[in-house]
Amino acid sequence: MPSAWSRYAAWGIALTRRKRGAPKIKWSLFVSFTAITALILMMVTLLQVLLIDTVYGFTVKSRMRSLVYEIGYLANSESFSEDAETLAQESSTALAVYLIDGSSQTLIAESTEHLSVLERLDSAEIETIYRFAKENGGFFQETLGDTLKDNRFSPNERKGRLLSAFVDERADGSTLLILLDTARTPMKHLVLLMQNHFSLVSVLMLAVSAGIAFLLARHIAAPIERISGKAKRMAKGEYDLDFSENSYREIAELSEILNQTSDELTKVDRMQKELVANISHDLRTPLTMIVGYAEVMRDIEGENTPENVQVIIDEATRLSALVNDLLEISRFQGGIEECKMTSFDMVLLANETVERYRRLKENSGFTFGFEAKGEAPVLADRAKIAQVLCNLINNAMNYSAEEKTVYLRVLCDDVRVRVEVEDHGIGISAEDLPNVWNRYYRVDRKHRRSVTGSGLGLSIVREIFELHSARYGVSSELGRGTTFWFELPLYSDALPAERV
Ligand code: ADP
Repeated sequence: MPSAWSRYAAWGIALTRRKRGAPKIKWSLFVSFTAITALILMMVTLLQVLLIDTVYGFTVKSRMRSLVYEIGYLANSESFSEDAETLAQESSTALAVYLIDGSSQTLIAESTEHLSVLERLDSAEIETIYRFAKENGGFFQETLGDTLKDNRFSPNERKGRLLSAFVDERADGSTLLILLDTARTPMKHLVLLMQNHFSLVSVLMLAVSAGIAFLLARHIAAPIERISGKAKRMAKGEYDLDFSENSYREIAELSEILNQTSDELTKVDRMQKELVANISHDLRTPLTMIVGYAEVMRDIEGENTPENVQVIIDEATRLSALVNDLLEISRFQGGIEECKMTSFDMVLLANETVERYRRLKENSGFTFGFEAKGEAPVLADRAKIAQVLCNLINNAMNYSAEEKTVYLRVLCDDVRVRVEVEDHGIGISAEDLPNVWNRYYRVDRKHRRSVTGSGLGLSIVREIFELHSARYGVSSELGRGTTFWFELPLYSDALPAERV
């Protein structure tokens, strides 16, 4: 049977702990703040109570020392006795001033205090004190018990009374012994008072600081709780959220990261949705055409013409290109695409590609310019770089305007080769330019069908560049044309395979 205590403990833990075992930050902060305050208060109280005796003793000693000197300074004044008594009374200290002449002692000033022992000192004792002071350079200070070994005084008096003595030679040649007697330790009731006072103050302070700790903990935890609430909503698929919090720098940084994440997720979400729309549109259109043409060819005599078959072939080709792009991008996404590096001549590859396009497109009015010098050996995946060139040339053709020209340039310096594909087509606005590398991004969303393409071409190109750690970029001006470029390091160790 679990005891009542263990049940309470379990209940307490359940209150402060969350599902995964970690306590709520608010409660942790509150408990920590309160514990620190309680600890500080306890230490302050303890130190006050423990140290009061020492500190008091020290203070009294130095106070009496300066007082006895102060009285000494007055020794030559006319009204010495009155002044000395006033000073002693102001400090609630017992005073006795003796005029010393050989062994005779004449009391010339006196101020009593109810616990004082000065009146009870006999002349032998005064003589002893006088001697001690003289031997000690004129000033002497000790507890009564240490100075006088007489049992006439109670233990409290022996320990608790501080004697201060000062021997002063006056201008007229006479000698004064100034004696001060005061309590060395604070009275018991004062200590008790302080203990009670500190206990009360501590309880009050603890209550106030617990309140402040609670407010503070809530204030610190509030933005974190807000962020975590929104993050939960984000995890459930709600991406369009504003995480902005400026309360603390770390939280502001976290909220900025989450804002970026939510922006990215919103973008990806939008793109996914567009992809589904795009792909289904892109798949449906050629499929409808294929089915339509095939039915016409089946049902209507004389429609089984090579032109109609060509339409079916074209649409099927478009479909297969789209499916290939999708497969390829998913291979890149899955990280399973690898490079088969070989050394080859970039000039040769670019030339072959341009020649193929010239032959293919000679009837469509396109002009292909090619500029290169010498050889440009590189170490790269030849098939993938060929695919890059085809994608860039296809885009240059797809987005060409009246001027149907595409230029391919292979430029070399000592260390690297730069390939540029330039067109004088419709161009890309500065606003769209950074996005063209994104998956499914298309500048002209409305007229997708007017040009072929899945919106994946450039993102495949980018993946290939990144697999090769190539530098790449694009510059464009709306209505003037576009230049895509990439750079690979020259590979000087081997001759291009094709040339051997
Ligand atoms: P798509 O299959 O739609 O061509 P890409 O990823 O190849 O997809 O290109 C993304 C978008 O970038 C294109 O939809 C087009 O708007 C723009 N783009 C690409 N190349 C060019 C170019 N040479 N001139 C103008 N716009 C281009």
